[in-house]
Amino acid sequence: MSAEIIDGKKIAQTMRAQLKDRINQLEDITPGLAVILIGDNQASKTYVSMKQKACEDLGIYSKLVKLPDTVKESELLDIIQELNEDQLIHGILVQLPLPAHISETSVIEAIYPSKDVDGFHPINIGRLQAGGEAFYPCTPNGIMKMLEFQEIDPAGKHAVVVGRSNIVGKPMGQLLLGKSATVTYCHSKTADLKTHTAQADILIAAAGIRNLITADHIKSGAVVIDVGMNRDEEGKLCGDVDYDQCRLKASAITPVPGGVGPMTITMLLFNTVESAERFSR
Ligand code: NDP
Repeated sequence: MSAEIIDGKKIAQTMRAQLKDRINQLEDITPGLAVILIGDNQASKTYVSMKQKACEDLGIYSKLVKLPDTVKESELLDIIQELNEDQLIHGILVQLPLPAHISETSVIEAIYPSKDVDGFHPINIGRLQAGGEAFYPCTPNGIMKMLEFQEIDPAGKHAVVVGRSNIVGKPMGQLLLGKSATVTYCHSKTADLKTHTAQADILIAAAGIRNLITADHIKSGAVVIDVGMNRDEEGKLCGDVDYDQCRLKASAITPVPGGVGPMTITMLLFNTVESAERFSR
């Protein structure tokens, strides 16, 4: 058996075309995203320029606020407040990580939940669990869209999520639960990871450890979603899953690169467009 390869690039392209149509239908309003970049971290700069380019391609107004890493927390909070009130801005994103002297919690909580397109504000996290209008974190929500595109219905399936971070693992499990999967979370303290992952109908690997998931870890016919972004010895991007082995056993699998990655930025665009639509109502 060889797994169906879930083509994240293609799904992302389809979704972006749909978003373009939605933007064209908005009258008198252009969706706007503000991105705050603090300091000189090369990875952060790359992510921010990818996000800006994606906005440009779609016709979303993007505003970049660049700040030195010496910026005071109070100054940053003032800037966020201005953006909260800015009519041209429907989404605010503060690129993480932040310098050590700035509290991530204070910054995330300063963004109005109605503009928190990353879905990290406690109100949005709460609504993800309790229901109500919310933004969901981009990576796990992108995975839900991928499953939808592939017509994989989580209802009644056993989903195992490896990783419990606030931005990927935890919301991933909640979203799957919301679609009636039976969910198991695994993490670094999980005893005998394999006994859990081998039961998964849907396995989400989000630990950030190269080759953590080998063919022994998966059930025959499982759907395997690889969130990991690691580098091999040659510096090539790779996931958490031993792709070459696991694709012979899985029924569907995401590659790295070209799987979950392209969906994450797409969902940021999705949330920004959704926000603009809400503001225009
Ligand atoms: P974190 O480092 O915040 O979380 C990693 C999680 O994996 C933790 O919950 C940790 O457990 C768990 N873990 C670590 N080691 C093991 C182990 N041996 N067995 C089981 N679980 C383990 O990472 P993120 O959630 O932010 O990201 C995870 C991966 O996904 C990274 O590679 C990241 O680069 C990638 N990523 C990819 C994105 C994309 O768009 N493709 C977007 C976001 C992230 P514990 O809680 O006990 O420490």
